[in-house]
Amino acid sequence: MTPAPGEAVAGEVLARRGVLQVGERVLLVDAKQRRYLVTLAAGGAFHTHAGFLPHDDIIGKEEGAVVAASTGRRFTVLRPTLADVVLKMPRGAQVVYPKDLGAILMAADIGPGMRVLEAGVGSGALSMALLRAGAEVIGYERRPDFAQRAQANVAAWLGEHVTTYRVVERDVYDGIEEQGLDRVVLDLPEPWRVLPAAQRALRRGGILVAYLPTINQTATFRSALAAGPWGLTETSELLRRTWHIEERSVRPDHRMVAHTGFLTTARLVERHGSEPPGPGR
Ligand code: SAH
Repeated sequence: MTPAPGEAVAGEVLARRGVLQVGERVLLVDAKQRRYLVTLAAGGAFHTHAGFLPHDDIIGKEEGAVVAASTGRRFTVLRPTLADVVLKMPRGAQVVYPKDLGAILMAADIGPGMRVLEAGVGSGALSMALLRAGAEVIGYERRPDFAQRAQANVAAWLGEHVTTYRVVERDVYDGIEEQGLDRVVLDLPEPWRVLPAAQRALRRGGILVAYLPTINQTATFRSALAAGPWGLTETSELLRRTWHIEERSVRPDHRMVAHTGFLTTARLVERHGSEPPGPGR
């Protein structure tokens, strides 16, 4: 039976509850808030400079339990969030930061059953966010090692049998094969080179999103959008500042990630052309 949109990724894997089991990934957090991602194996052990922690001491525990390593160092055990996984998973390319992943999902209005073309796929962080929101993702990635890494990262998180994810080793500047796409999401250096193809591959009203590290690239992209059938164009950036909160010391943290990227969205529309002259003009 064909799974309903989103079903292939929305089932058991994402709604794991109950005690921690063999094969699951867990997050170990120490008193200094350092985080480690570990896959539980029967008879396995987590080794640190602070001794070792047998996996068997974790398997069968509830989330939120506190376990001690051989030296007495304590860890809280939890199932990782998507943000934890993204920041801890093996990555070759720079991943999209969690703060921007959330923004991209809203900007591109991602939902169950939407057909999304994503390029380049990199380490698969954005793919994971799109898949979890229920989209059907076709990824174009020109580097075979990244294409593999992304698929491995997605499989490690959602399982081997995700039917809504397909990565093609391909240069998106050479064109887009798919048609009638709902969304095109770009995280690569020259998104303006994708516009002619995106225009043909997207359905009318579809949304295009590009994530770019510099404003120079963003300006070039905006000029290209302005010359084509694109409307509701918007560029934004997101600053996220965490706070230090202790009894008598409540203030912003000293450090923050000050810059990641600029987000530009546009929708495929009919060209206005020149406006017909109005009355009295
Ligand atoms: N969004 C990804 C990171 C992408 S990094 C994540 O969250 O993990 C940019 C990726 O784009 C790199 O892997 C690079 O190989 C790929 N890339 C660059 N130009 C490309 C092109 N023309 N076609 C396909 N992939 C491209």
